[in-house]
Amino acid sequence: MALAFLRHGSNGALIALLAALAFWPMLGGPALGMFWIGMFWIVLGAVLFHASEYVWRRFAFHAPPAPGPSALRLQRRLHFDHHAEPNRLDLLFLPIWFLAALLAASAALFWLVFGAYAVASLVFGVGLAILHYEWTHYVAHIPYQPHTAWGRYIKRYHLRHHFISEKSWFGVSNPTFDYLYGTRPAPKTVAKSPFVRNLFGDRAADRLQ
Ligand SMILES: [Zn+2]
Ligand SMILES: [Zn+2]
Repeated sequence: MALAFLRHGSNGALIALLAALAFWPMLGGPALGMFWIGMFWIVLGAVLFHASEYVWRRFAFHAPPAPGPSALRLQRRLHFDHHAEPNRLDLLFLPIWFLAALLAASAALFWLVFGAYAVASLVFGVGLAILHYEWTHYVAHIPYQPHTAWGRYIKRYHLRHHFISEKSWFGVSNPTFDYLYGTRPAPKTVAKSPFVRNLFGDRAADRLQ
């Protein structure tokens, strides 16, 4: 199970990057070295990722089909095809180009807002949170029953997004923003959407013909 997780998507590359960042201070690089200050930035980076998770899942992954075929291909790879075939591991994880762009953009933003010295710790926190996100998403889609009540809850939570309605339950690692935005209805009050497996129906399919 853990081996399949490492083999797919960018998970292996992400772990290598985290290891490099953790060893970097020992070799004289900035940040993580001063333990408590480093911890503060790491936690902040993780919180920022988990807070942004809702926004890019709801507004970017579920954006209406783009007018051009190349942009639509990206949308399909990033999320539409995952709804069509939720069990395919090659479509489940974030592609490496998306991960690289996300980390680079986060690093640039952190550099501007917090200054160079905190960037390594913040990116480390973002990377850990992405790994947690990918793992939670992976567990939701494989035939494995988590041992904890929270694990079972969050797995069921994501499966509602796939099998009841794609317009609700956007959070994967946490439901906080679904609470805030009102996209966490009582499951029994929601009619099954005809588009859970085929986001935007023919609007998305036709454009690739
Ligand atoms: Zn999913
Ligand atoms: Zn979705």
